Amino acid sequence: MNASQRSARNAYAGLGLDRAHARRSDAVWLDTAREDACTRFVLTLPDTKLWANATGDALQWLDAAALDAGQRARASLLGLDAAGVAYFQVVGAKAPAGPGQAQGLRALAAGADAFHAGLAAYAAALAHWQRTSRYCPACGAATEHDDGGHRARCPRCGLSQFPRTDPAVIVLVEHADAALLGRKPGWPRERFSTLAGFVEPGETLEDAVRREIAEESGAVIRACDYHSSQPWPFPASLMLGFTAQATSRALAAGDGELAEVRWFTRAELRAGLADGSLSLPPGFSVAYHLIADWLEQTH
Ligand SMILES: [Zn+2]
Repeated sequence: MNASQRSARNAYAGLGLDRAHARRSDAVWLDTAREDACTRFVLTLPDTKLWANATGDALQWLDAAALDAGQRARASLLGLDAAGVAYFQVVGAKAPAGPGQAQGLRALAAGADAFHAGLAAYAAALAHWQRTSRYCPACGAATEHDDGGHRARCPRCGLSQFPRTDPAVIVLVEHADAALLGRKPGWPRERFSTLAGFVEPGETLEDAVRREIAEESGAVIRACDYHSSQPWPFPASLMLGFTAQATSRALAAGDGELAEVRWFTRAELRAGLADGSLSLPPGFSVAYHLIADWLEQTH
């Protein structure tokens, strides 16, 4: 399995939408598409919720007739599907009339297919960025969103902001037949996951892997390899999964971010999962796949 195939298993990663960059600056095309009866509008609601169907396992599209002229004019272009149908994101303050329900992003990841989960993540992340880019960070003036909703431009000083994504590394550290897993404060006693942290300015991904593991566990990393990636819109992360090899199983007191960090052999982990004394992150996460892939290897 290659990295593309591994990434495609992670929730929010299998969207396959044509993002239609060239259309974002085509005002005539955008206005026509926003009025087209075939266009599908994804409604984002507060608290990273989206408008979903009655069973909560797919997005519930709205059509142009369900929106007022102001909502249509502010709708942001997400892209085009293989049939040429346009998808827009629209921000709502409350649930609309008609069938459906507000559904959380995590529940959609667990229950929806790759296209719906990926579109939900994309729409929610764009909505979050739009909410947090209303003012120019340089001069404080109110910004204007254009480029199909993908740019916030300052009319006073001309600064442009674009949707940001914060890279974070998430790492399965191994040494011989053992993996290093941690438990965050507040998690159930039996829950363990891979170690993770944000990439800092001026840092390579490999440097971030070494630093984060050292900070959280004291383990020294000899080498690391890319595994897969996952959009993680809580609110704006991109998880970059790695496997890493430690020089030994020596650990030191961490920075307090984790309540517990320890080595598990495959036999210990398998036994704990079997008898319920250990649990893993949800199956839609890159963390789960990092651990599951390692468990499947025979050392
Ligand atoms: Zn400005």
